[in-house]
Amino acid sequence: MILIISGPQGSGKGTQAKMIANEFNLFHMQSGEMLREIAKTEKRIGELQNQGILVPDKETIDYMDKYIKGNKPDFDDIIFDGYPRNIDQYNLMKTWLSSKNKKVNKVIYLQISDDEAIKRLSTRRTCKNCGELYNLITRPPINSESCNKCGSKLIQRDDDKPDAIKKRLSFFHKLTEPMLKEMDAEKLLIKIDGERPVETIFQDIDSKIKNAG
Ligand SMILES: [Zn+2]
Repeated sequence: MILIISGPQGSGKGTQAKMIANEFNLFHMQSGEMLREIAKTEKRIGELQNQGILVPDKETIDYMDKYIKGNKPDFDDIIFDGYPRNIDQYNLMKTWLSSKNKKVNKVIYLQISDDEAIKRLSTRRTCKNCGELYNLITRPPINSESCNKCGSKLIQRDDDKPDAIKKRLSFFHKLTEPMLKEMDAEKLLIKIDGERPVETIFQDIDSKIKNAG
């Protein structure tokens, strides 16, 4: 089974992807995480990321191909998180998967309103020292100002500030939503109300995947 999970930032898709991966024994393919890992050893990728430039689509696919070969050699039972984000990426992915005799089976779309996304993201805090993530509402630190792990000061990253969040949301509406529309036309889309407690959302996704067979 090949799944994709999509949704705007703040929709909680990373958390749900982990839970789904656990329940269905899937490999959790986090493309953003993978690229950050690669950036540590490949200077050019690090430079692109520092400049806020996206790694070219074909290259991302090549990296994922290598990464999956190393971690999930049968190339099955994978949940893609963070990729694809637009129609071009989706088309490349389809070609790539079909070269492995695979296809996307279902796409889980976690829906939340812009207001909710902004509310959730603007309460995110990051440890200045170790990078640990917190959320003042959903995952508050024990001591409101400092990291549970290392005691350093918590900060709000620039990309968690309202203007940066709005920019990412408009990218989602302009580029990701048309892709989701296409997936819906292909009868792949499972729409999920993301404005509910984590466990309720998970139960909903779980039963919908099971019903889809
Ligand atoms: Zn820390």
